Amino acid sequence: MNGGHYRCGADIEGKKWLGWQGSNLRPPDTPVGFPKEKWLGWQGSNLRMPIPKTGALPLGHTPALARSIAGLTRKGRVVFKQVRSSVASMTNLATARTILDTLVAFDTTSHRSNLALIEWVEDYLAQHGIASERVANAEGTKANLFATCGPAVEGGVILSGHSDVVPVEGQDWSADPWTAREVVAKGGKRLIGRGVTDMKGFIALALAFVPRFAAGELPVHLAISYDEEVGCQGAPAMIARMAQTIPPPRLAIVGEPSLMRVVTGHKGIAVHEVTVRGHEAHSSLTGHGVSANMVAIELMHELAVLAEELRARADPDNGFDPPEATLTVGVMEGGEAANILAGHARFVFDLRCPPNEDPDAILAPFIARCGEVDSQLKARFPECGVTIERHAGTAPMTPQGSEDAVAFVRRLTGENTAPLQVAYAAEGGQFQQAGFPTVICGPGSIEQAHQPDEWIALDQLEAGARFMERLAEELT
Ligand SMILES: [Zn+2]
Repeated sequence: MNGGHYRCGADIEGKKWLGWQGSNLRPPDTPVGFPKEKWLGWQGSNLRMPIPKTGALPLGHTPALARSIAGLTRKGRVVFKQVRSSVASMTNLATARTILDTLVAFDTTSHRSNLALIEWVEDYLAQHGIASERVANAEGTKANLFATCGPAVEGGVILSGHSDVVPVEGQDWSADPWTAREVVAKGGKRLIGRGVTDMKGFIALALAFVPRFAAGELPVHLAISYDEEVGCQGAPAMIARMAQTIPPPRLAIVGEPSLMRVVTGHKGIAVHEVTVRGHEAHSSLTGHGVSANMVAIELMHELAVLAEELRARADPDNGFDPPEATLTVGVMEGGEAANILAGHARFVFDLRCPPNEDPDAILAPFIARCGEVDSQLKARFPECGVTIERHAGTAPMTPQGSEDAVAFVRRLTGENTAPLQVAYAAEGGQFQQAGFPTVICGPGSIEQAHQPDEWIALDQLEAGARFMERLAEELT
């Protein structure tokens, strides 16, 4: 679609560009060539109107539209102002496609280095006169990268994406996962490749618009992380550095695939590993030793009871599916043989809390119980015991305090449906904890992430390009 779009507002009492809330504002006489589904939406303060390939703006339509809106507003003058033609956003979309091909070709599976991709992005930004800063891991094998496009002033927008992707091993890919390819499928064209939707597509779009952002009056801060897919371990150091160095932004947008819907909440994750050391003896002489497995089973049973309590006390209206904090044991192992009291056992559990549940409070009694059992075992055999170790966790993202960010992002997407809460965890909570109002919004669907033949619909990339274009306008 070669379109343009128009801002429409009523000039009432000298206040221009009043918002049109409600999604049911439609012209009464939608003309031929404008199928309803092609109207991009009337929500928010901007009216967007596609233009068919063959023609310019159907001028004849504008007065009717004006009348219909004037009727709704009852008073005042309706004004139309053409804003930047989306030809520019389509050019940038083509650039984004090229960049995406390049990004996909870097195998940035989380267990590998992402430095080749980071170096490429550094070079790209440098070509546009933009300095960037790396925040590397301790070993120097991976790095985050952030950069400010435009003036270093307050009130900008952070665009955040992770550079790592999930593994392709063991998945049935129909072609090379590291070569993006376009296919025609039911419902439209798609781009296939590892990371196209989660989430190199968003990064490619943001990079393609760098020249536009650089020309803005307010900045866009790009934030590219590593190790998101293995517990959001990379971003915190970068976020801390950004909080120290960039002028306070208005909001952060994490571009996880959300089909361009606004997401204001995700659960947090706390992963713990419990290790039990027993005292080996013949299995017939259970009193002569300690079976680490039997101790582990008792502790896991306590977790099962706790999981049930969490389910029972969940707030069914918190917007999450499922609403409760979930707790499950993902890994368990222990023992050597059926006829030996197990000398060693280990299990790992995963607790995912909505923002209204505190993982530390939930686990405090269990951690205390592990301490008690540890003392009891040590009283029998000094080498026995229980230890519990917390792995890196991810903070939940809460809708609280995100109202301004939601309103801002809705202006970019033209959506005003209720914000979503999602079950997957992301870096949103980490940005929020650092004091940045944060929402998730990005092209593609999480359902196509992590899959063999991961894909993104081309119309989602197009929607992403329109989003970036609107963002650039908003900051100009
Ligand atoms: Zn992701």
